[in-house]
This record gives sequence, structure tokens and C-alpha cells, in this order.
Amino acid sequence: MSAPVKVKDKYFKIFIENQKIEAHIHELCEKLKARYEGTEPVFLAILNGAFMFAADVFKHLEFDCEITFVKLASYEGVESSGEVRQLLGLEEGGLKGREVIILEDIVDTGKTLSEFIPLLQKQEPKSISLATLLYKPDALQYDLPIDFVGFEIPNKFVIGYGLDYDGFGRNYKDIYQLAE
Ligand code: 5GP
Repeated sequence: MSAPVKVKDKYFKIFIENQKIEAHIHELCEKLKARYEGTEPVFLAILNGAFMFAADVFKHLEFDCEITFVKLASYEGVESSGEVRQLLGLEEGGLKGREVIILEDIVDTGKTLSEFIPLLQKQEPKSISLATLLYKPDALQYDLPIDFVGFEIPNKFVIGYGLDYDGFGRNYKDIYQLAE
């Protein structure tokens, strides 16, 4: 059992140990294989948080598939006061006719993916599905195609296994939850 950790000014307690993460990823990969083997799908891992999850998923997939790492960047629009999102790391037209699976670390409100998916749809992929390691059903506010889930978790802040608190904590192999 791992001890609590302190990241910057906050304490976090162990929540999901790496062994359990690996077991769930193994199950998830079996489902991905059943659905996508033979279709040469392309996985899109969302940076930064999903890098560890994506690496573990990808090394368990023993069939022909590709992976690309993408980032959603925001910048202030010149005309509007709202935030404008753009997709970095993807070649124009690269997804046309492809089976696409988004790899995400966590779905919280779903806002990020609700902005990301329309940008992907412009490239006319054959299908888009979503595999997320963590999912907070109580926090979800957007309609999303959440097809593959590692763990459903309560609406509390977590770090580790790629997830950060203010840039730190991504390096822990287990997942920790903010201590009350
Ligand atoms: P959403 O757009 O679904 O509300 O949030 C998605 C993003 O918020 C995630 O990709 C992640 O970066 C961040 N996020 C949401 N919940 C958590 C959490 O519990 N811990 C951490 N570290 N990041 C979170």
C-alpha cells in the first residue's frame, strides 16, 4: 500500500494502485481488439495527461494500428471575447475514412472533448470513439460517445499516472485522490 504523497501544497491519498490500472487496461485492450482488429485504426492520444495511459494501451495492442499525439491549444480570438480552440499535431486530411479512437486520461465535465470532437469530424473519419482511463459520471455536462472506460470515479480531484496538479504529480505510477 503506497503512503500519501504531498504535491506542492496539497496531500493526496492512494486511490488506484498501478496493478489495478494495468488489469483494467488489459481488459480495455481486449475490447479494442475485438472491435478494431483488421481495420487499421488510428489512436489519438491527448497531451499532456494521456501520455502514460496511451503508452500502456498501445503496447498491449497486438494488431496493426497507428498512434498520434495531439494537443488542444487555446488562444484569445481577435474578434470575439470567447476562447478559440485549435488542434495541434494533426496533419490536414490525415483521418479521412479512418476509424479513430481518442485516448484521454479523464473525462470530467466533457467540455474539452466536446470541443475536440467537432475539430476531428471536419476531417471526415469513418468513425470516432473515445477510450478514457477515468470517467466522472457525476460531473459530465456534455453529450459524448464514451465507448471504453477504465474506471468510473467520484467527482474528486485525482493525480498521478499522467494526471497533474499544477504541472506536478504526473510521474506517480499509481493514481491518488485529494485528501479531505
Ligand atoms: P473536462 O473538459 O472533461 O471538464 O476536463 C478535462 C480535463 O480537465 C482533463 O483532460 C484534465 O486535464 C482535467 N481534469 C479534470 N478532472 C481532473 C482531475 O480530477 N485531476 C486532474 N489532474 N485533472 C483533471
